[in-house]
Amino acid sequence: MDSQKGTDSVSQRIQAMTDRAADLKARGAYFYNMAVTEILDDARVIVNGRNMGMYASYGYAGLLGHPRIAAAAKAAVDKYGTGTNGVRSLAGTLDLHVELEETIADFKHAEAAITYTSGYATNLSVISTLMGRGDWILSDKLNHASIVDGCMMSGALFRRFKHNDMADLEKRLQQAPSDVAKLVIADAVFSMDGDIIDLPKVVKLCEKYDAWLMMDEAHSIGVLGKTGRGIEEHFGLGDVVDIKMGTLSKTIPSVGGYVAGKRDMIEYLRHASRAYIFSAALPPAQAAAAMESFKVILDEPWRLEKLQANTEQFIGGLKSAGFDTMLTETAIVPVLCGDDERAYELTGAAQAKDLFVLPVVSPAVPNGLARLRATVTAAHATKDIAYALDVLAEAGKEIGII
Ligand SMILES: *Cc1c(COP(=O)(O)O)cnc(C)c1O
Repeated sequence: MDSQKGTDSVSQRIQAMTDRAADLKARGAYFYNMAVTEILDDARVIVNGRNMGMYASYGYAGLLGHPRIAAAAKAAVDKYGTGTNGVRSLAGTLDLHVELEETIADFKHAEAAITYTSGYATNLSVISTLMGRGDWILSDKLNHASIVDGCMMSGALFRRFKHNDMADLEKRLQQAPSDVAKLVIADAVFSMDGDIIDLPKVVKLCEKYDAWLMMDEAHSIGVLGKTGRGIEEHFGLGDVVDIKMGTLSKTIPSVGGYVAGKRDMIEYLRHASRAYIFSAALPPAQAAAAMESFKVILDEPWRLEKLQANTEQFIGGLKSAGFDTMLTETAIVPVLCGDDERAYELTGAAQAKDLFVLPVVSPAVPNGLARLRATVTAAHATKDIAYALDVLAEAGKEIGII
């Protein structure tokens, strides 16, 4: 390249990524951004003309394509069209948004709720609006990137505590001056590892040190608790989380994010959080689909039971084949491979046998902890999971993982 542009640090970063992706593609080890051409349900998809079992979906309750939810979305398009007149604060609010927020507040047993157009934007905006310079944020080391970005954007002092380690969290709470605002924040279910935060202990520590508590329920809403209400219900606790955040893009087959909590806090966010004020409202179809989904979860409790049974079958089968599934207790199941190369190999072998699974490698996870990040949903049939287990066990032996 002849210009200065070709050698500066931006160009170097672009080149490095281009080279890494090209190398993987050349070796047939690039599995990302594959186009699904048809979604049969949350358990089967068509990719490259092949009917594959889906083991990488976040649709834990199997709600994608649910007739009631699809009908609600279509009716909303007929009534309101495909977009809104702008941002929520000005002309963008529909009665649908108000009803959706009431539905979420009700589902979470909270006073009120606010929605945003993505979970990522929700974390970014809510954390950086509530917290600021001089405040302290204590964040679990394995928290989702959107939490990390929100913490950094806030300008607050940002400390990570060891993953789900309550002694370490307490040590850091002790270090904080008593007169500063403190926020403790964690994924309820960790998105790469599938384990559950020790909420009862976190709550005690937050009470003892007078800290705010925020839970990201991206992978626990519609998954944990007897009726799918999430982490508080799972532990049989009442209203103990101040900032109840979740997404509308995983178990809820739509898009968007929400926070539920005390009415004053939600009203404050409506008037102060920039993703609400400066970004367009959720489209009508997505708001209607999300609202109907919360109702379906309550109307069809068998989905939670089936999800639980499928999770037990899948984790149990992997363990008895000799795989290390780390600390998972939920439908997010890490299948530990070791170095990145082995994770690519296991993925390739599984995909050749029509399992849609994907690898998670460094730097998303630490070096040497590359894995498949497999998921099951309520939509999987027992016999399909048995087939997946056979495929993974055979390939795992061939590659030398088990
Ligand atoms: C997926 C995810 C988000 C972001 O949600 P989107 O709605 O996809 O933007 C936030 N937090 C966690 C833990 C997630 O897994």
